Amino acid sequence: MSGRRDRARPAVNNDVSAEDPEVKRTAQIYLSSLATGESENIIDRMIRRRSSWSILKRDVCYVLRMKLKLLLLAKKETESIDMKALITVSELRAAEIELVKYVERQTFSEEYESLRTNGCVKKSSSLRYLDPVVLPNGLLAVGGRLKRASIAEHCKHPVILPRRHRVTNLIVNHCHEMAAHSGREYVLLLLQKKYWIVGARAVIRHVLKNCAFCRRYNVKPLQQKMSDLPSARVTAGNPPFTSVGVDLFGPFEVKQGRSLRKRYGVVFVCLAIKAVHIEIVHSMDTDAFLNAMQRFMCRRGQPTEMVMVMVNVNLYSASSQKSLMR
Ligand SMILES: [Zn+2]
Repeated sequence: MSGRRDRARPAVNNDVSAEDPEVKRTAQIYLSSLATGESENIIDRMIRRRSSWSILKRDVCYVLRMKLKLLLLAKKETESIDMKALITVSELRAAEIELVKYVERQTFSEEYESLRTNGCVKKSSSLRYLDPVVLPNGLLAVGGRLKRASIAEHCKHPVILPRRHRVTNLIVNHCHEMAAHSGREYVLLLLQKKYWIVGARAVIRHVLKNCAFCRRYNVKPLQQKMSDLPSARVTAGNPPFTSVGVDLFGPFEVKQGRSLRKRYGVVFVCLAIKAVHIEIVHSMDTDAFLNAMQRFMCRRGQPTEMVMVMVNVNLYSASSQKSLMR
Protein backbone atom coordinates (compact mmCIF):
# COMPACT_ATOMS: atom_id res chain seq x y z
CA MET A 1 0.00 0.00 0.00
CA SER A 2 2.65 2.47 1.00
CA GLY A 3 4.61 1.84 -2.18
CA ARG A 4 1.61 2.74 -4.34
CA ARG A 5 1.03 6.03 -2.44
CA ASP A 6 4.63 7.08 -2.93
CA ARG A 7 4.39 6.46 -6.57
CA ALA A 8 1.13 8.52 -6.91
CA ARG A 9 2.51 11.62 -5.05
CA PRO A 10 4.05 14.15 -7.45
CA ALA A 11 7.54 15.32 -6.82
CA VAL A 12 7.80 18.81 -5.17
CA ASN A 13 10.60 21.13 -6.08
CA ASN A 14 11.43 23.39 -3.02
CA ASP A 15 14.18 25.31 -4.74
CA VAL A 16 13.01 28.95 -5.37
CA SER A 17 14.99 31.00 -7.74
CA ALA A 18 16.33 34.34 -6.44
CA GLU A 19 15.18 35.96 -9.68
CA ASP A 20 11.57 34.95 -9.09
CA PRO A 21 9.45 38.19 -9.03
CA GLU A 22 7.08 36.64 -6.48
CA VAL A 23 9.81 36.60 -3.86
CA LYS A 24 10.01 39.68 -1.65
CA ARG A 25 13.60 40.63 -1.29
CA THR A 26 13.31 42.84 1.82
CA ALA A 27 11.09 42.56 4.81
CA GLN A 28 10.29 45.35 7.29
CA ILE A 29 9.30 44.66 10.85
CA TYR A 30 7.67 47.37 12.99
CA LEU A 31 7.95 46.87 16.72
CA SER A 32 6.49 49.10 19.36
CA SER A 33 7.06 48.62 23.05
CA LEU A 34 5.14 50.13 25.97
CA ALA A 35 6.75 50.71 29.34
CA THR A 36 4.52 49.16 31.96
CA GLY A 37 6.13 51.02 34.88
CA GLU A 38 6.49 47.86 36.90
CA SER A 39 9.61 49.23 38.60
CA GLU A 40 7.66 52.14 40.12
CA ASN A 41 5.63 51.25 43.16
CA ILE A 42 2.26 52.74 43.99
CA ILE A 43 3.56 55.26 46.55
CA ASP A 44 6.15 56.64 44.12
CA ARG A 45 3.49 56.94 41.45
CA MET A 46 1.16 58.76 43.83
CA ILE A 47 3.91 61.14 44.93
CA ARG A 48 4.74 61.92 41.32
CA ARG A 49 1.15 62.46 40.21
CA ARG A 50 -0.55 64.24 43.11
CA SER A 51 -0.52 68.02 42.94
CA SER A 52 -0.88 68.91 46.63
CA TRP A 53 0.12 67.62 50.03
CA SER A 54 -3.51 67.31 51.20
CA ILE A 55 -4.54 65.19 48.21
CA LEU A 56 -1.48 62.98 48.61
CA LYS A 57 -2.19 62.39 52.31
CA ARG A 58 -5.84 61.62 51.59
CA ASP A 59 -4.95 59.02 48.97
CA VAL A 60 -2.34 57.42 51.20
CA CYS A 61 -5.08 57.09 53.84
CA TYR A 62 -7.03 54.88 51.44
CA VAL A 63 -3.92 52.81 50.73
CA LEU A 64 -3.37 52.30 54.47
CA ARG A 65 -7.03 51.36 54.87
CA MET A 66 -6.71 48.76 52.14
CA LYS A 67 -3.54 47.43 53.76
CA LEU A 68 -5.35 47.07 57.09
CA LYS A 69 -8.30 45.41 55.41
CA LEU A 70 -6.07 42.83 53.71
CA LEU A 71 -4.25 42.16 56.98
CA LEU A 72 -7.54 41.52 58.73
CA LEU A 73 -8.64 39.21 55.92
CA ALA A 74 -5.36 37.31 56.14
CA LYS A 75 -5.85 36.85 59.87
CA LYS A 76 -9.50 35.90 59.24
CA GLU A 77 -10.70 38.57 61.62
CA THR A 78 -14.42 39.36 61.67
CA GLU A 79 -13.85 43.12 61.86
CA SER A 80 -14.43 44.87 58.53
CA ILE A 81 -13.06 48.16 57.21
CA ASP A 82 -15.40 50.58 55.48
CA MET A 83 -13.44 51.96 52.54
CA LYS A 84 -16.03 54.68 51.86
CA ALA A 85 -16.06 56.14 55.38
CA LEU A 86 -14.91 59.70 55.94
CA ILE A 87 -11.20 60.11 56.62
CA THR A 88 -10.38 60.92 60.24
CA VAL A 89 -7.67 63.22 61.58
CA SER A 90 -5.79 60.29 63.11
CA GLU A 91 -5.72 58.59 59.69
CA LEU A 92 -4.32 61.76 58.11
CA ARG A 93 -1.60 61.94 60.78
CA ALA A 94 -0.74 58.28 60.22
CA ALA A 95 -0.55 58.87 56.46
CA GLU A 96 1.74 61.87 57.00
CA ILE A 97 4.07 59.83 59.21
CA GLU A 98 4.17 56.97 56.71
CA LEU A 99 4.87 59.29 53.80
CA VAL A 100 7.68 61.16 55.56
CA LYS A 101 9.12 57.87 56.78
CA TYR A 102 9.07 56.56 53.20
CA VAL A 103 10.91 59.66 51.95
CA GLU A 104 13.50 59.45 54.74
CA ARG A 105 14.15 55.76 54.06
CA GLN A 106 14.68 56.60 50.39
CA THR A 107 17.05 59.51 50.98
CA PHE A 108 18.74 58.90 54.34
CA SER A 109 18.92 55.10 54.34
CA GLU A 110 22.60 55.07 55.34
CA GLU A 111 22.05 57.47 58.22
CA TYR A 112 19.07 55.49 59.42
CA GLU A 113 21.03 52.22 59.38
CA SER A 114 23.99 53.84 61.16
CA LEU A 115 21.72 55.21 63.87
CA ARG A 116 20.03 51.86 64.34
CA THR A 117 23.28 49.91 64.59
CA ASN A 118 25.79 52.39 66.08
CA GLY A 119 23.58 55.12 67.57
CA CYS A 120 25.32 57.83 65.51
CA VAL A 121 25.85 58.79 61.89
CA LYS A 122 29.09 58.73 59.93
CA LYS A 123 31.36 61.76 59.87
CA SER A 124 30.90 62.00 56.13
CA SER A 125 27.13 62.35 56.45
CA SER A 126 25.51 65.70 55.65
CA LEU A 127 23.32 65.32 58.76
CA ARG A 128 26.15 65.00 61.27
CA TYR A 129 25.77 68.61 62.49
CA LEU A 130 22.08 68.04 63.23
CA ASP A 131 22.83 65.26 65.75
CA PRO A 132 19.97 63.16 64.31
CA VAL A 133 17.86 60.77 66.38
CA VAL A 134 15.18 58.23 65.54
CA LEU A 135 11.84 59.10 67.15
CA PRO A 136 9.59 56.41 68.67
CA ASN A 137 7.37 56.53 65.57
CA GLY A 138 10.39 55.69 63.38
CA LEU A 139 10.99 59.16 61.92
CA LEU A 140 14.47 60.64 61.59
CA ALA A 141 14.57 63.95 63.47
CA VAL A 142 16.97 66.66 64.63
CA GLY A 143 18.49 65.89 68.04
CA GLY A 144 19.31 69.49 68.85
CA ARG A 145 19.86 71.07 72.28
CA LEU A 146 16.26 71.79 73.23
CA LYS A 147 15.53 68.65 75.24
CA ARG A 148 14.97 70.70 78.42
CA ALA A 149 12.89 73.41 76.76
CA SER A 150 9.23 73.70 77.76
CA ILE A 151 7.91 73.45 74.19
CA ALA A 152 6.06 70.76 72.25
CA GLU A 153 7.99 67.59 71.41
CA HIS A 154 7.67 68.05 67.67
CA CYS A 155 9.24 71.52 68.05
CA LYS A 156 12.17 70.11 70.03
CA HIS A 157 12.86 67.46 67.40
CA PRO A 158 11.73 68.63 63.94
CA VAL A 159 11.58 65.87 61.36
CA ILE A 160 14.39 65.94 58.77
CA LEU A 161 13.37 66.23 55.13
CA PRO A 162 15.67 66.08 52.09
CA ARG A 163 16.22 69.10 49.91
CA ARG A 164 15.46 67.59 46.54
CA HIS A 165 12.28 65.55 46.85
CA ARG A 166 8.79 66.12 45.52
CA VAL A 167 7.24 65.51 48.95
CA THR A 168 9.38 68.34 50.39
CA ASN A 169 8.17 70.66 47.65
CA LEU A 170 4.55 69.68 48.31
CA ILE A 171 4.94 70.35 52.06
CA VAL A 172 6.56 73.75 51.45
CA ASN A 173 3.83 74.66 48.97
CA HIS A 174 1.19 73.58 51.49
CA CYS A 175 2.69 75.84 54.19
CA HIS A 176 2.96 78.68 51.68
CA GLU A 177 -0.73 78.40 50.79
CA MET A 178 -1.80 78.02 54.44
CA ALA A 179 0.09 81.26 55.18
CA ALA A 180 -1.92 83.08 52.48
CA HIS A 181 1.04 83.10 50.05
CA SER A 182 3.39 84.75 52.54
CA GLY A 183 7.07 85.38 51.96
CA ARG A 184 10.10 83.18 52.47
CA GLU A 185 10.89 83.89 56.11
CA TYR A 186 7.33 83.38 57.37
CA VAL A 187 7.00 80.09 55.46
CA LEU A 188 10.33 79.01 56.96
CA LEU A 189 9.01 79.84 60.44
CA LEU A 190 5.91 77.69 59.90
CA LEU A 191 7.96 74.84 58.47
CA GLN A 192 10.47 74.76 61.32
CA LYS A 193 7.72 74.08 63.85
CA LYS A 194 7.51 70.57 62.43
CA TYR A 195 10.17 69.92 59.81
CA TRP A 196 13.86 70.59 59.26
CA ILE A 197 14.59 70.81 55.55
CA VAL A 198 18.24 70.62 54.56
CA GLY A 199 18.83 73.87 52.64
CA ALA A 200 15.31 75.11 53.38
CA ARG A 201 15.70 78.65 52.07
CA ALA A 202 16.68 77.47 48.61
CA VAL A 203 13.72 75.05 48.53
CA ILE A 204 11.28 77.77 49.63
CA ARG A 205 12.72 80.20 47.07
CA HIS A 206 12.22 77.59 44.35
CA VAL A 207 8.62 76.88 45.41
CA LEU A 208 7.70 80.56 45.68
CA LYS A 209 9.24 81.25 42.31
CA ASN A 210 6.98 78.65 40.70
CA CYS A 211 3.79 79.70 42.54
CA ALA A 212 1.38 80.92 39.84
CA PHE A 213 -0.63 83.03 42.30
CA CYS A 214 2.45 84.89 43.57
CA ARG A 215 3.84 85.36 40.11
CA ARG A 216 0.58 86.93 38.98
CA TYR A 217 0.37 89.35 41.91
CA ASN A 218 4.05 90.22 42.24
CA VAL A 219 4.68 90.97 38.60
CA LYS A 220 5.98 94.49 37.92
CA PRO A 221 3.33 96.73 36.34
CA LEU A 222 3.98 97.81 32.78
CA GLN A 223 4.82 101.45 32.17
CA GLN A 224 2.91 103.39 29.54
CA LYS A 225 5.20 104.95 26.97
CA MET A 226 4.73 108.72 27.10
CA SER A 227 4.18 110.65 23.89
CA ASP A 228 6.36 113.56 22.75
CA LEU A 229 6.05 116.82 24.68
CA PRO A 230 3.96 119.56 23.00
CA SER A 231 5.86 122.39 21.35
CA ALA A 232 4.71 124.88 24.06
CA ARG A 233 6.62 122.84 26.64
CA VAL A 234 9.92 122.81 24.76
CA THR A 235 10.00 126.14 22.88
CA ALA A 236 12.46 128.55 24.46
CA GLY A 237 12.78 132.33 24.11
CA ASN A 238 9.12 133.32 24.66
CA PRO A 239 8.09 135.53 27.62
CA PRO A 240 6.59 133.77 30.66
CA PHE A 241 2.88 132.86 30.43
CA THR A 242 2.90 132.78 26.63
CA SER A 243 1.30 129.34 26.93
CA VAL A 244 -0.58 128.55 30.12
CA GLY A 245 -2.47 125.70 31.72
CA VAL A 246 -5.52 126.59 33.82
CA ASP A 247 -7.30 124.77 36.63
CA LEU A 248 -9.43 125.58 39.67
CA PHE A 249 -9.00 124.40 43.24
CA GLY A 250 -10.92 124.78 46.50
CA PRO A 251 -13.26 125.60 48.10
CA PHE A 252 -11.65 127.17 51.15
CA GLU A 253 -13.80 128.53 53.93
CA VAL A 254 -13.02 132.17 54.85
CA LYS A 255 -14.62 134.26 57.55
CA GLN A 256 -16.53 137.33 56.42
CA GLY A 257 -18.04 139.22 59.34
CA ARG A 258 -19.75 136.54 61.44
CA SER A 259 -20.33 134.05 58.64
CA LEU A 260 -18.20 131.57 56.68
CA ARG A 261 -17.98 131.94 52.90
CA LYS A 262 -16.52 129.67 50.22
CA ARG A 263 -13.67 130.95 48.09
CA TYR A 264 -11.89 129.28 45.17
CA GLY A 265 -8.56 129.64 43.47
CA VAL A 266 -7.67 129.71 39.75
CA VAL A 267 -4.14 128.59 39.02
CA PHE A 268 -2.38 129.64 35.81
CA VAL A 269 0.83 127.71 35.09
CA CYS A 270 3.33 128.70 32.42
CA LEU A 271 3.86 125.59 30.25
CA ALA A 272 7.48 126.53 29.46
CA ILE A 273 9.01 127.49 32.82
CA LYS A 274 6.29 126.33 35.32
CA ALA A 275 5.76 129.81 36.75
CA VAL A 276 2.52 130.01 38.75
CA HIS A 277 -0.08 132.78 39.00
CA ILE A 278 -3.09 132.38 41.31
CA GLU A 279 -6.32 134.41 41.26
CA ILE A 280 -9.17 134.22 43.77
CA VAL A 281 -12.78 133.75 42.63
CA HIS A 282 -15.81 134.11 44.87
CA SER A 283 -17.97 131.54 43.12
CA MET A 284 -17.74 128.74 40.61
CA ASP A 285 -19.75 130.42 37.85
CA THR A 286 -18.53 131.42 34.39
CA ASP A 287 -18.56 135.18 35.00
CA ALA A 288 -16.32 134.87 38.08
CA PHE A 289 -13.81 132.86 36.05
CA LEU A 290 -13.85 135.31 33.14
CA ASN A 291 -13.15 138.15 35.58
CA ALA A 292 -10.23 136.19 37.05
CA MET A 293 -9.00 135.60 33.51
CA GLN A 294 -9.15 139.32 32.74
CA ARG A 295 -7.18 140.13 35.90
CA PHE A 296 -4.55 137.56 34.95
CA MET A 297 -4.17 138.96 31.40
CA CYS A 298 -3.91 142.55 32.72
CA ARG A 299 -1.02 141.47 34.93
CA ARG A 300 0.86 138.92 32.78
CA GLY A 301 -0.23 139.66 29.23
CA GLN A 302 -2.47 137.76 26.84
CA PRO A 303 -1.40 134.13 26.34
CA THR A 304 -1.26 132.67 22.86
CA GLU A 305 -2.26 129.20 23.99
CA MET A 306 -4.35 128.05 26.93
CA VAL A 307 -4.83 124.45 28.13
CA MET A 308 -7.87 124.04 30.39
CA VAL A 309 -8.91 121.15 32.61
CA MET A 310 -12.39 120.51 31.28
CA VAL A 311 -13.74 118.68 34.33
CA ASN A 312 -14.88 122.09 35.60
CA VAL A 313 -18.16 123.08 34.02
CA ASN A 314 -17.45 126.78 34.34
CA LEU A 315 -14.12 126.40 32.52
CA TYR A 316 -15.88 124.52 29.75
CA SER A 317 -18.46 127.26 29.56
CA ALA A 318 -15.78 129.97 29.63
CA SER A 319 -13.77 128.27 26.88
CA SER A 320 -16.79 128.60 24.60
CA GLN A 321 -16.70 132.38 24.97
CA LYS A 322 -15.30 133.67 21.68
CA SER A 323 -14.02 136.87 23.22
CA LEU A 324 -11.82 135.11 25.77
CA MET A 325 -8.62 134.92 23.72
CA ARG A 326 -9.05 138.07 21.64
ZN1 LIG B 1 2.14 81.90 46.31
